[in-house]
Amino acid sequence: MKIFECDHCRLALFFENQRCEKCGYLTGYSPDDQDMLSFDPSVLTLVSDKDGKEFRYCANREFGVCNWLIPIEKNGKFCPACQLNRIIPNLSDNENFQKWKKLEGAKHRLIYQLERLNLSYVSKLKDLNQGVCFDFLSRNPTHNRMTGHSSGVITILLEEADTVHLEKMKTQLLEPYRTLIGHFRHEVGHYFWDRLVATAPVILEEFRGIFGDERADYGQALLRYYQSKYNMDWKGNYISQYAGSHPWEDWAETWAHYLHIMDMAETSFSFGLSVNPNLNEQSLVGKIDFDPYQNHDFGQIFKAWFPISFAINSLNRSMGIPDAYPFVINGEVMKKMKFIHRLLFGMR
Ligand SMILES: [Zn+2]
Ligand SMILES: [Zn+2]
Ligand SMILES: [Zn+2]
Repeated sequence: MKIFECDHCRLALFFENQRCEKCGYLTGYSPDDQDMLSFDPSVLTLVSDKDGKEFRYCANREFGVCNWLIPIEKNGKFCPACQLNRIIPNLSDNENFQKWKKLEGAKHRLIYQLERLNLSYVSKLKDLNQGVCFDFLSRNPTHNRMTGHSSGVITILLEEADTVHLEKMKTQLLEPYRTLIGHFRHEVGHYFWDRLVATAPVILEEFRGIFGDERADYGQALLRYYQSKYNMDWKGNYISQYAGSHPWEDWAETWAHYLHIMDMAETSFSFGLSVNPNLNEQSLVGKIDFDPYQNHDFGQIFKAWFPISFAINSLNRSMGIPDAYPFVINGEVMKKMKFIHRLLFGMR
């Protein structure tokens, strides 16, 4: 994600800032402008420093989970990100509330990225057939639902936001990387498969050529995966072990990684990052001097991103923390990512 600044005093701001730490102005994210705006806190109405337009905050700001702005002339209590919530936890339960807060952080970053990719979506609360919504639930035998996607309903279990649970699952499922943003990116990938691939015969045909035939029995495939995962040979063809379970999961996993790379590339671009290591070999020299969302060539994005990701992993190792990007992208995975990039870029 790009870095923002306060329109009033020019301090750098994070996407999540509700107030500028330096000048004390109120801040908020305007999805229409794809930018952070600042507001004089001594004035009752929110009039943007940038262009004098008037806004109000999304109703979820009250709970500290959203800083998005709604233009005053638009109707509705919630911003485009919060409009997608169908079930949220009972806010009187503090433990669940804290988990929901973390989930909202990841979800807002996801929605920002969907906007940057120009992907259209609508809330299921407005369009039952084409829409998408989020249910944030506790694990409970009465509903028996798990984190996943089904016909536009994305369920995220609140326990995913529990760091102890996260570490336990990483070990249990042999996953080198498990994060909230990763869950959101994966699950929304299933939704967009339904929207962009399943409904377009030519694209579906191409998908099958690259990812395999998704008409293979999904239940059987997952069963087989859980029975044989420990001796499965996946490294040559897939981005992760789970991606090898079924073409749908391969798509969702690859999609999530494509979004990871695009986000890291945008952040790198925004910071003007470049690396030029002290090596004879030139493959780790890199610079992202373009907006990845405006570049049609994923090969070029990858080539510029890879050296930076290697440097970030090395920095993490300096601090004794796991690699930021602990995956290898082989030729097969690259083909899949290029397919996704072509598909999304072609829609702009
Ligand atoms: Zn400021
Ligand atoms: Zn909101
Ligand atoms: Zn999945």
